[in-house]
Amino acid sequence: MQRQIFRPAKVDEQQAPLVIAVFGPPGGGKGTQSSMLAKFLRVPHISIGSLLRSYAQDKSEVRLRLRGMMALGNLVPDTLVLDVLATRVSEPDCARGLILDGFPRTLRQADLLERGLLQFPFYSTNLREKLVAIHLRVQGSTIAGRLSGRRICSRCSATYHLETQPPRVHGECDFDGSALTIREDNRKAAVLKRLRLYEQQTAPILSHYAEKASLLEVDGEQPRENIAQEIVTAIQGMLRISVAGPKNAQSMVENHP
Ligand code: AMP
Repeated sequence: MQRQIFRPAKVDEQQAPLVIAVFGPPGGGKGTQSSMLAKFLRVPHISIGSLLRSYAQDKSEVRLRLRGMMALGNLVPDTLVLDVLATRVSEPDCARGLILDGFPRTLRQADLLERGLLQFPFYSTNLREKLVAIHLRVQGSTIAGRLSGRRICSRCSATYHLETQPPRVHGECDFDGSALTIREDNRKAAVLKRLRLYEQQTAPILSHYAEKASLLEVDGEQPRENIAQEIVTAIQGMLRISVAGPKNAQSMVENHP
């Protein structure tokens, strides 16, 4: 399996922390790009969907209802999202910045982010200096292909794609041999709902950030290594960070067996 690894950047310890929010439709590559960028910048990748899926694991009535909402592709209530998010961002590893994957998803959540987390005293007072939004632009036809091939381990939640990232043994997780399944919200009706919600509720945040924050538009149809390269180059320019090891972004992308 080919894996792309970034050499971590050496971020100036004096630099104010930065929040990077990654946007894109379901299947748009937010998770993959967030995780690569997190390794590069050595800040945590916070996937709200993953936090909510873990939270919904046990069988209490509230959590079963939550699983039902997520399986149908609906957004879950803000109070719960904020609760889960606030608990995570209060951990010490978030002090130097973080990557948000899946938050904010509505203009209201964007407002809560600006008035909440981003008001912490160690952040810059200028929104453009503390919040970078990355928009992965992907067409509907690409999304359908990406989502229909996605599989997830029923035990450890490792993710696979039948074409681009297949398991070593068909239908079995590489890590624990458990059966691979389709995530409920990757079934057709739920995907259509998630796409509709994305267009109606999440896309308007991008115009808001184009005016008020730093917005980076990226062609999400490219191979993922090229997308990562483009993002890293832009972020390096924005942060004026130096990189441990090779100086140019191309040489930071390495193939590992
Ligand atoms: P994701 O893994 O980002 O595709 O998110 C999976 C599901 O988690 C979504 O379809 C929603 O049901 C829920 N979810 C994730 N992020 C949010 C959010 N910011 N607000 C409300 N619901 C969310």
